[in-house]
Amino acid sequence: MPKLISNIILEKDKITLEPDPQLTKYVKDPLWIKCKEINMKECPEALASIPLVLNLAPIVWRLGGIWEDLKIDKNINNSLDLARRSISKIYKEYSFSGTIVGQGNVPNKNTNGSLILYSGGVDSTFTVMNKFKENPLLLSINADTTKRVTTDSSNTLKGYNSLRKKIPLERLVIESNFGTFLNQENIKNLFPGLTRSYWAAIQHGLGLSGLAAPILYLLNKHELIISGGHSVGQKGGAGSHPFLEGQLKWTNSFVNHYGYQFSKFEKIENIDKISRELKLKPRITVCTRANTITNCLTCEKCLRTLANILIADLEPADYGFEINKDDAINHLKIHVPHKIYLGQNEFAAWETVKFDALSQKNYGKNNKFLDWVIRLKLYNSPFKIFKSFIKRVYKYKILKIIAKN
Ligand SMILES: [Zn+2]
Repeated sequence: MPKLISNIILEKDKITLEPDPQLTKYVKDPLWIKCKEINMKECPEALASIPLVLNLAPIVWRLGGIWEDLKIDKNINNSLDLARRSISKIYKEYSFSGTIVGQGNVPNKNTNGSLILYSGGVDSTFTVMNKFKENPLLLSINADTTKRVTTDSSNTLKGYNSLRKKIPLERLVIESNFGTFLNQENIKNLFPGLTRSYWAAIQHGLGLSGLAAPILYLLNKHELIISGGHSVGQKGGAGSHPFLEGQLKWTNSFVNHYGYQFSKFEKIENIDKISRELKLKPRITVCTRANTITNCLTCEKCLRTLANILIADLEPADYGFEINKDDAINHLKIHVPHKIYLGQNEFAAWETVKFDALSQKNYGKNNKFLDWVIRLKLYNSPFKIFKSFIKRVYKYKILKIIAKN
């Protein structure tokens, strides 16, 4: 029977995980995690393996067969099978017939308290604001800085610094090559027709949970809190879902997918409410552009978050968006929908924005911006975006002719 792990190297500040040769087609480099603050050497092998297991699990399920391994914690088996069943329901077009059977033992120990995965976006800021009284430790995972990949570590630090003025929680930063260790080309062939990357559509929640597993054990923590992005109507829940990583358990710890039921708008309203109570201005970064040093204000996610902030009638500059309210309204009207391409998931996310705007109007709030959002016609095909652009150009030209006459 195939194995999943070939070698586990435990060093004081680093865990390196090499997959079995049968998986090297899908893996460019061994997966590693670095942390200077804790002794990684003390992690039992059956737990140290979990980062690789969870980043590769959907690939192994796709390949089929039974993958038994003494180097994997046997107490993860049931929850892995639940996650496999969930992914089979989400992506019915692929068969996920493989089974991972951990046979390793991890010593039981008393664990308590939680880690919150913190990136500085809307979801994790919301989680911190609602959980800080339980004194969680924040965990940020930086991408490998030796390679040219997107890293928002400076933005995460700015967000953390803005919070800790009133919320003095400790934060631990670990580093990993999780963003670059896989062979994306070969993985693409395993998932033909997948409209987003393996990371965005499938790997995200499971992979990040896996990276935190050794840290939870070494710090005697019981619960990993992943901030759930509201993804109703979005296929695969952007690779993170209560029914994927939210079902995971292994020896001494489990994953809690927190806050899924709240839309981004509801989270922003809640962040604002708690910020006022604490007299705090949390800096939030949501930008998806590579190597960005702030919110770019032009990518789809920046624009959508800006819309939510304006629906809540807040000043964007108070939350890390360098633009005032009036300019932001005009800015949105120029960019949405003409300058953004909406895939299926983004389209569903904007429908939620419209729904929240309508709810605000029904609650008695009334302004022209809400009306504009409610009436917004969204396009999710490049042809329709082009058609709308042409229409706008002609409208502008006709207006110019009228003005001249
Ligand atoms: Zn952006």
